[in-house]
Amino acid sequence: MNQSFEYCPVCTSKMALGENEYNSCTSPSCSYVQYENPTPVVAAVIEYGDKHVLLGHNRAWPQRWFGLITGFLEKHEHPDECIIREVKEEVGLDAEIQSFIGFYTFKRMNQVIMAYHVKATGDVILEDELDEVKIVPFEKVKTWPAGTGLALKDFLENLGYEVEELSMDSKI
Ligand SMILES: [Zn+2]
Repeated sequence: MNQSFEYCPVCTSKMALGENEYNSCTSPSCSYVQYENPTPVVAAVIEYGDKHVLLGHNRAWPQRWFGLITGFLEKHEHPDECIIREVKEEVGLDAEIQSFIGFYTFKRMNQVIMAYHVKATGDVILEDELDEVKIVPFEKVKTWPAGTGLALKDFLENLGYEVEELSMDSKI
């Protein structure tokens, strides 16, 4: 999550909310503005097996939360490459991009999510961040009304499924 600077990283003067609504340097001789641009993140709706989606559980999450596989772009990396790499790294599967689902803003984390539908093959091997996956038939997937949940909902609804959305209490 982005943090608002208390002091200007250029001239060390105090920062304050400026007329532009951004956290800005208060020194008249400095024009530094902290724009807090969103961080781009890739997310994968992983189709694993026939009409099943693979969801992952992060160690740090409450027990019943499962989500899409996500990741940050490496320097100069194209999102298409990033999504293949992240699926391999996080769940050990070989992914092939099927389609781009869309862009989603995730306000709480100040992220822009780029969501893909990928088909994946191989055996699931979990890396450190994830401790469990579940593989759910498309018709039984429940989504959540934020971040990657919106991408998953769009993906399923585009295929004609009626999707039940969990409340915010039960998911991020
Ligand atoms: Zn400054």
